[in-house]
Amino acid sequence: MGGKTAVKKRGAYFDRKETRSRERRREEQAGELAAMMRLAIKKSPVIRRRFEALGVTPTKRNACELLKKLPVISREKLVQMELDDPPYAGLGNPDAAIERIFTSPGPVYEPHLSESDPIWARAYRAAGFGPGDVVLNAFSYHLVAAGLTFHSGLRRVGATVVPSGASSAAVQVQLIRDLKVTGYTGTPSFLRTVIARAEEEGYDVRKDFGLRKACFAAEPLPPALREEFERSYGIDTYQMYGATEVGDVAYECREKEGWHLCEEVIVEIVDPETGLEVGPGELGEVVVTRPNDIFFLMRFGTGDLSRLIPGRCRCGRTAPRLAGIAGRVGEAVKVRGMFVAPSQLRKLAEGFPGWKFQAVVTREGNRDLLTVRVEAQESGRGKDVLASFEKRFAEICTVRIDRIEEVPTGTLAGGSRAIVDERNWP
Ligand SMILES: [Zn+2]
Repeated sequence: MGGKTAVKKRGAYFDRKETRSRERRREEQAGELAAMMRLAIKKSPVIRRRFEALGVTPTKRNACELLKKLPVISREKLVQMELDDPPYAGLGNPDAAIERIFTSPGPVYEPHLSESDPIWARAYRAAGFGPGDVVLNAFSYHLVAAGLTFHSGLRRVGATVVPSGASSAAVQVQLIRDLKVTGYTGTPSFLRTVIARAEEEGYDVRKDFGLRKACFAAEPLPPALREEFERSYGIDTYQMYGATEVGDVAYECREKEGWHLCEEVIVEIVDPETGLEVGPGELGEVVVTRPNDIFFLMRFGTGDLSRLIPGRCRCGRTAPRLAGIAGRVGEAVKVRGMFVAPSQLRKLAEGFPGWKFQAVVTREGNRDLLTVRVEAQESGRGKDVLASFEKRFAEICTVRIDRIEEVPTGTLAGGSRAIVDERNWP
């Protein structure tokens, strides 16, 4: 995906892969997956044993089905596997010319080839970063993958990088001012800190600085903070999503309606309890496989909950989109087979300012019952308002409410949990 292959369509840059048909994507990715599986069988005794147990040789035709038969590997599980069989749990290719070895908390060791890094270029290109940009990279360069991999992505789109890493906010302000920085990449909360520091020093960020775009990762971007960056400071913001174990997973385009899956990964949305794929549009755990020839980590369970947005994006990319991150596995409660996460309820609350409510799951007979307790206002709530609340609930949570219970004001104190599981399992 170098600059030469990128084509310009409606003001955005794509490469061939981003606009290929979904059938073609599936077919090409199946081929890449089968190639990794066959190489892994040759190079990794761990993988060889796993496929011997399945009794099937991976081909382009069966690779995706075979993948579903492998266990999901969570970060915790990977840490244990690496402890038992250091450094790569037997999943590394011993003959690969590894350029870098990163580590992340656990510890988890991750071998990287430099060629596997520039994938973040897709995210930066979609966010409008390119030649002429001077970008502050405030991700750490120390041991962890973030700094260097984002650096490679920025270089790939032709931007100049200022590797500011973990420098203090004061230093970042000085760099933005002196080097005429136009873009920022890092966490949203740190950019907020840097802006606060600049204001303390008496700068008018919008007038005095050339900072116009930001591409965030590693943290959620709350809508209010996004609005503040965009409205108050004139900084166009984008989100990227990934994990150090598998790299870039998804990124936001200019439409800002979900995150396109990266062309280099195969993503499944699964029920974290069973590892089986959930239905279209349903919430589940994001499980990622990146076909590559150095680290044969297949079905990495990110622990993040999301769902896929149906339909095509107006930007022209054909890759499916993730609907942001709804929370972590463990926070969500399963209601009639669907996961409901606290973040979905927070999203719902945005449309009903001042409302206090709590979802409660009970069981009657063999059926889950979803009751939503809503604090009554003095005036009471009209039927229409409650009906629109129910409708919106079903849209966001993909589960219908069975009963709305109005409770006295003050019942749901500040610390009340958004969703409570009151089922007693025998
Ligand atoms: Zn798009």
